[in-house]
Order: sequence, then C-alpha cells, then structure tokens
Amino acid sequence: MKIQQIRNSTLRLSIADKTILTDPVLLPKHGIESFAGIEKNPIVDLPFPAQEIIKDIDLVIVSHLHQDHFDNGAKELLPKEVPMFCQPGDDNAIKDNGFLHVSPIEKSVEWEGIHITRTPGKHAGNEKWQKILGNVSGFIFRTDNEPTVYWAGDTILYDEIKDTITKAKPDIILTHSCGAILDDSGPIVMDAKQTIDVCKLAPNSIVVATHLNALDHGTVTRKDLRTYANDNGITKNQLVIPEDGQTLTF
Ligand SMILES: [Zn+2]
Ligand SMILES: [Zn+2]
Repeated sequence: MKIQQIRNSTLRLSIADKTILTDPVLLPKHGIESFAGIEKNPIVDLPFPAQEIIKDIDLVIVSHLHQDHFDNGAKELLPKEVPMFCQPGDDNAIKDNGFLHVSPIEKSVEWEGIHITRTPGKHAGNEKWQKILGNVSGFIFRTDNEPTVYWAGDTILYDEIKDTITKAKPDIILTHSCGAILDDSGPIVMDAKQTIDVCKLAPNSIVVATHLNALDHGTVTRKDLRTYANDNGITKNQLVIPEDGQTLTF
C-alpha cells in the first residue's frame, strides 16, 4: 500500500491495485481565498502538474466541501465519469458540477475489494464553530491483505475519534494536524498536542500527519510538529510527516 502526500489533504492512496484521490485541490498556489487574512491559499504550489496528480485515478473521495478540500481546479480537471464518494448531504453539490457517479456513504460501502467505512468528526471544539464549519467525515479503508488505513479528516480529537481508533485498530492513522484557527474558534483540526495524543493512544499504529504547511490559518508546521513529537518521546517511526510529493510505502 502506498500513500503519496500531494498537498494539504490531497493524497494518492494506492490500495488493492486501485488509486484513490482524496480531497482534490488542484488550483495553483493562491488559487483560493485567504482564511486568516495573511495570504491567499493554498500557500504552496502543487508538487507536480495537476494532470499528473489525477492520472490513472480510480476513485475520488471528498471528506467535506470546504474549498481546501474540493476546489474549482478539481471541478474543472477531474474526469466527470470518475466514481466519487462523499458524506451524505454533499452529493448534490458535487453533482451540480457535472460529476456523473457521486455516491454518499451513509455507513460503509464495498468498492472493488476495499471496505470503506465513514467515520464521524467535529470540525471545532465548540458548538458555535461546529455549526459554522458544518459536517465533516473521515473514512476507514480495509482490505484483506493490506494495512488498514483510518483517514480522520478535518476533525479535532474527541471521544468518538478515540473510540474509532480503539475499535478499528488501524495500522495507519492519517491526521489533519495544522492546528488551524479562525477568530475565536480554537483549533478546528488537530494541533501538535492532539496529534501526539493520537500517537500515545495508538502506540501500535503509524500516524501520518497531513494537512500541514498548506494554509494561512494553520498554526502548526511540520517542523513544529516534529519538535513537539521529539519533546514527547514520539519517534520518527511512529509519527511520519511526509513532505508534499513524498510517497510512503507500507
Ligand atoms: Zn474543513
Ligand atoms: Zn481543511
């Protein structure tokens, strides 16, 4: 199984001979609005041309509809016939862009030998910002012969996420770890502490931190996260922080 970090939470996940593209954001640097008033997003370019990123993909999964997870570049460049999964409630908005095979996952789905389960999330630690930011989802990918991957999505760490990790026992946990903040929101995704708490909660899992160094409302960089991990005794083997363009093989 391979995970290629593209940018933010755009990943190419190669599993069971299929290639899944997550949260496609394909516009160049500064293609979408600023979230924190610092600079337009994304704050970095794609590591490869967009056409290369979407080459040979078999499936697209959109965790939620925020612009840093599904952008106009993706709407324009992705083939309209590619199968797409999303959370319930987001399907019509995706279809409105001409996509022909969009299916919401209520609980779970079996696709081409991959069992995909939708998992819950909270996009802030308080109700005010949860309401503003809306519903979010994560997904677990399970196959017969490859590591089980839990992609947590745009969520903070809270009890349901801990339960999901404890019950699913994923081999790999993908976290969104930039500690983004909007006004008085508090972290709207995991920050360094929450990511390290995931590592401590699941000492037998490899945690792959993503959604880093891409957006202007992030408060945690890859470097910050590594420093915090070192200070807390979490090794590079347990917490992997891929650079944009890097491929991890498990
Ligand atoms: Zn979001
Ligand atoms: Zn996000």
